[in-house]
Amino acid sequence: MQACFAIHADCMGSSVTNVIQFSLPPKRDPHGSGEAFCIQCGHTWIAVAPAGTVDLECPECHTMKGKWRFEFQPAPGTMVRECDCGNQLFYLTPDGHLCANCGTYQGY
Ligand SMILES: [Zn+2]
Ligand SMILES: [Zn+2]
Repeated sequence: MQACFAIHADCMGSSVTNVIQFSLPPKRDPHGSGEAFCIQCGHTWIAVAPAGTVDLECPECHTMKGKWRFEFQPAPGTMVRECDCGNQLFYLTPDGHLCANCGTYQGY
């Protein structure tokens, strides 16, 4: 945790000439890094991307179908629904479960 310094405008008066300009580290956009996987080809890698990035470019098949690996996943061996395309991620919509990879609704 970095300390935060605040300078009171009142204390400085009108003169700002003797204020030492301390150099701030170059402004960086917050980045996230972590394990990513591709729902297109199944490739996994360690991705670094600006915070808020949802779609990552897969270094293997170069589609934008890379996703962050989730913090939580079913335990290995747990039965999970899988689309014909191999994807296991779905949007749960009022119309049904929409495959996040190929865009087809799942039939039950
Ligand atoms: Zn891929
Ligand atoms: Zn699919």
